[in-house]
Amino acid sequence: MVATELDQVADELRAADKLLLTTHENPDGDALGSLLGMHLVLKQLGKDAAMFLAADEFPLPHEYRWLPIDGVLNAPPEDLAERLVVFLDCGNIDRMPVDFLSADGIRIINVDHHHDNTRFGEINLVDAEASCTAELVWRLARELGAELTAPMAEALYVGLVTDTGRFMYRSTGAEAHRMAAELIDAGASPHTVNRQVFESLPFRRLALLARGLDHVVRFDDGAITSTYLTRDDFTETGADETDSEGIVDHLRSVEGTTVAVLVRDLLAEERAGLRKVSLRAVDEEVDVSRIARGLGGGGHTQAAGFTTALEAPQLLERVRAEVGEQRA
Ligand code: 5GP
Ligand code: MN
Repeated sequence: MVATELDQVADELRAADKLLLTTHENPDGDALGSLLGMHLVLKQLGKDAAMFLAADEFPLPHEYRWLPIDGVLNAPPEDLAERLVVFLDCGNIDRMPVDFLSADGIRIINVDHHHDNTRFGEINLVDAEASCTAELVWRLARELGAELTAPMAEALYVGLVTDTGRFMYRSTGAEAHRMAAELIDAGASPHTVNRQVFESLPFRRLALLARGLDHVVRFDDGAITSTYLTRDDFTETGADETDSEGIVDHLRSVEGTTVAVLVRDLLAEERAGLRKVSLRAVDEEVDVSRIARGLGGGGHTQAAGFTTALEAPQLLERVRAEVGEQRA
């Protein structure tokens, strides 16, 4: 199935002269690495491939600002109608904050690894077994006969190392390591990427993490380890929303935890009163994407999220009930 779709997508990419590449809102390492990697592959093949990210995605999370995504568009190009649109790492078109990409007549190719992908494209290369979307871009690059360059390898390595939790999540198999080896052979430096992505954090992150750790509450004999960050936590530490990335992973690492939960206030004026919830499951006992979908979000079985107007206590009640139900 996926092999056929891989061929179909490769054919479409070969046939297209003009493309527009994009990814989901609040882009993470896999989103940006896949976007940039695909861009570099298509450029090598002589294509006019523009990248698009909505204006309010900027500034990007601090750890990804070094990625050379120069020239990324923040507004629709005038020749949009002539471009084949390629979505990368986006499970649901609602995760694209602009409307013009879902307008009539826009041809969409959907390349992703979310099991709950809504298959909103004309062709959907969706492989939930892939450790990251960058892996699908890597396979496409091979199919297209592209020569893997160091910048391509580095971009794809960022997607791989972030979405596999530095090669530690369940999605990490031999194929992820084979991909890593090939990317390293092509010039990606694990040490450089590690320094840039994980060890160049602004100090305010540590201050925000301290707030998060200070607010930890455990429920149900520790099966649920949760915390929250208020608007004041962000303003008093000077942090922005992207600085909360990774905090929930600290909660997951505590013995006895089944599900880790981070609830944070959204800061944008127009989103006042809304909260973003991040869910992480330690193993396959609980599928957190089911809980997130029930509340309007989605994601992977072990990492999912949603946005809600529910207050934290009601929200946690709901999550506790659903976790309890799934564990029963
Ligand atoms: P995070 O908790 O890091 O924001 O998101 C974890 C994962 O959950 C993401 O990789 C993404 O797949 C998914 N996710 C987070 N928020 C949403 C959302 O609002 N809608 C959907 N469909 N997926 C989300
Ligand atoms: Mn991904």
